[in-house]
Amino acid sequence: MHYVFITGGVASSLGKGIASAALATLLKSRKFKVRIRKLDPYLNVDPGTMSPYQHGEVYVTDDGAETDLDLGHYERFTNQSANKSDSISSGKIYSNVLHKERQGDYLGATIQVIPHVTNEIKSFINGDLNKENIVIYEIGGTVGDIESLPFLEAIRQIRNNRNISSALIHMTYIPYLSSAGELKTKPTQHSVKELLNAGIQPDIIMCRSERGIDDESISKISLFCNVKKDSVIPALNANSIYEVPSLYSKYGLDKILLKHLSYNIKKYPLNLKPWQNLLKKINNQKFKTTIGVVGKYTNLKDSYKSLNEALIHGGIENSTKVEIKWINAEKLNKKNITKQLGTCDGILVPGGFGHRGIGGKIESIRYARENNIPFFGICLGMQLAVIEIARNVLKIKNADSSEFKSNSRSVVGLMTEWTKGNKIEKRNKDSAKGGTMRLGSYKAKLMKNSKIFSIYKKSTIDERHRHRYEVNAKFISKFRQKGYIFSGMSPDGLLPEVLESELHKWFIGVQFHPELKSRPLDPHPLFVSFIKNCKNDKH
Ligand code: GLN
Repeated sequence: MHYVFITGGVASSLGKGIASAALATLLKSRKFKVRIRKLDPYLNVDPGTMSPYQHGEVYVTDDGAETDLDLGHYERFTNQSANKSDSISSGKIYSNVLHKERQGDYLGATIQVIPHVTNEIKSFINGDLNKENIVIYEIGGTVGDIESLPFLEAIRQIRNNRNISSALIHMTYIPYLSSAGELKTKPTQHSVKELLNAGIQPDIIMCRSERGIDDESISKISLFCNVKKDSVIPALNANSIYEVPSLYSKYGLDKILLKHLSYNIKKYPLNLKPWQNLLKKINNQKFKTTIGVVGKYTNLKDSYKSLNEALIHGGIENSTKVEIKWINAEKLNKKNITKQLGTCDGILVPGGFGHRGIGGKIESIRYARENNIPFFGICLGMQLAVIEIARNVLKIKNADSSEFKSNSRSVVGLMTEWTKGNKIEKRNKDSAKGGTMRLGSYKAKLMKNSKIFSIYKKSTIDERHRHRYEVNAKFISKFRQKGYIFSGMSPDGLLPEVLESELHKWFIGVQFHPELKSRPLDPHPLFVSFIKNCKNDKH
């Protein structure tokens, strides 16, 4: 087994996550058994309670971990599911150490960063492995941050162990100075010095740049950073992120890495056919479909990363370019709604928390419903569709969710218990906020002859959840009388999972997050069907 560590320097947001994922794609396409894991330097125990404004989307795995959005990239590129033990944060590491200290596990020793924290990091790196050929470890943050130091020290120790084979890839940024008309390599040199300070010499340097990198700059980086010239790999911008694996391969990243790990690459030929076919489809999108996404975190696109990708996947499958119009729900009202949504071929209300922007989202659902525009509600989006229909069709004027108003007629309310496997999970209003939701993969049963059944083409589905509130099943028959069917339920029949309309062209709300399971080589059927129906409006 070999380890590949990927660190970042010079600036944050270089796209290390996509780089790690693309590298894994290349290795997988050579038939290696690969896995990617992430170490994040922040002190939150997990990203579950972090604001999407700051940290982007919280990605949920099948086994219910709330993780960094990079795990989403990993799954989309490798087409394999991540799990709880694929990511860890400094917060979790320290909390493990402190827990052991309180348990007396350290037998009275003075607890220090070296060796106790670094040992904990090493045991994560070395632990829970499954006979993979190559395990890629992405180190979050930027070299030089105080928080990254224990990670670098742990990596130094691992690389110092003769029995472990590893490679270290350092990703940096090469800025272009227009006044000098030159690409500048100095920040890269400094960031490699920073790594050397921690006792680590990189094997490969990947250079992010907005412009092609000239041979002279490559030679300079090779000379000053003590890395062979063919191990300085340009990482240029791509038209589509799904082009990144082929781009890296063109510059020889996979070959050089495998050479470092002493593989005979002739034995592992590269087959990028499925990705090349995907790129052909991407470059051959004949139509354009505009989807209005009415949300709260529309300023930071990363907040809806998986959704963004799932819509694109749906578009690729339908030969149409999906243009997403991000609409700030807080600014949406009856007066401007036609102007804002009139040009959209479909309307989607994504998941979310808290009362802000709720009015605008409900208005957009009403607009979609009254004008028979394809509507897709995800998690909170489904709950709000239930509220909108309850208020405007069933005429329950004060219908609401107890998340927003506690003494209303709650068509959506706090779930107090549900079953997971054989055990009953319980929550109430006093439960802690972190890690207490209905999280991860749960089964749902679909009604035969329903629209949702025709989309999935099966009666039992498995989808990922992340919510605290639930549609109140008491209202099911009232909805049915008006043509709104709960066509998917939890297997015990207690929790509504899917709402669909018999009266509309495409009006579906789901309590789960299908976007988390959509992959470019295996697009999610709900997104494929949604985009197909939006597209047919015009073409
Ligand atoms: N806020 C809602 C709940 O907790 C919806 C959550 C979501 O959209 N992910 O149930």
